[in-house]
Amino acid sequence: MLQSVIAQHIAKVRQQVEQACHKFARNPIQVKILAVSKKQPATAIREAAATGQKAFGENYLQEGLQKQQELADLDLEWHFVGPIQSNKTRDLAENFAWVHTLDRFKVARRLSEQRPEKLPPLQVLIQVNISDEASKSGVAASDALVLAEQVMVLPHLELRGLMCIPAATDDYQQQRATFAQMAALQKRLQAAFPAARLDTLSMGMSGDLEAAIAEGSTLVRIGTAIFGARQ
Ligand SMILES: *Cc1c(COP(=O)(O)O)cnc(C)c1O
Repeated sequence: MLQSVIAQHIAKVRQQVEQACHKFARNPIQVKILAVSKKQPATAIREAAATGQKAFGENYLQEGLQKQQELADLDLEWHFVGPIQSNKTRDLAENFAWVHTLDRFKVARRLSEQRPEKLPPLQVLIQVNISDEASKSGVAASDALVLAEQVMVLPHLELRGLMCIPAATDDYQQQRATFAQMAALQKRLQAAFPAARLDTLSMGMSGDLEAAIAEGSTLVRIGTAIFGARQ
């Protein structure tokens, strides 16, 4: 059967993930692929979904909501991975399963208040500004546990772990070192809250997924390698 280009790309990414898992003695079942579909049309998501890909990530709220409507006939899991505007939390709370970019208690409280009762708790990750860049969102590593403690008690959120977007670098050792810091922080979080389901470390993109898997990523966010360059 003739495979679409997107299907070929997904097969290749799955293979890369499996190879990295094999190399670093990780179980591939524990590394999920999130297809980041920002600036890609709904038709591209439909092609990806036809291969069995279920989890999609969007960065821009209006664009994401639009595509959710166009694809309402599919059973997809929507993740929000973009910066959160505090006056736009209701649409997020009502329409997404996961939010990766939580970095303020005020936003967390609003998301919890606005999460509809009939839906499961919103699954959230705290974004850590691990490379300490002035331009990036995310909490400082030293503030992550304090925010986690506050988020943990909100009734309609479930904190699942941490996420980062490190400073871009092609240096593999540098990538590993940064992801190792995230893994250490996740371990501290798990030790501080042993009863919580802190099983998710969202790190690794098209250019650094092997380093992320080497250091314990459980969710890689892949855009370009699946969909090609963005418009
Ligand atoms: C765009 C984006 C990605 C995907 O990046 P690629 O390099 O295209 O794989 C992953 N995570 C976040 C938060 C993004 O904004």
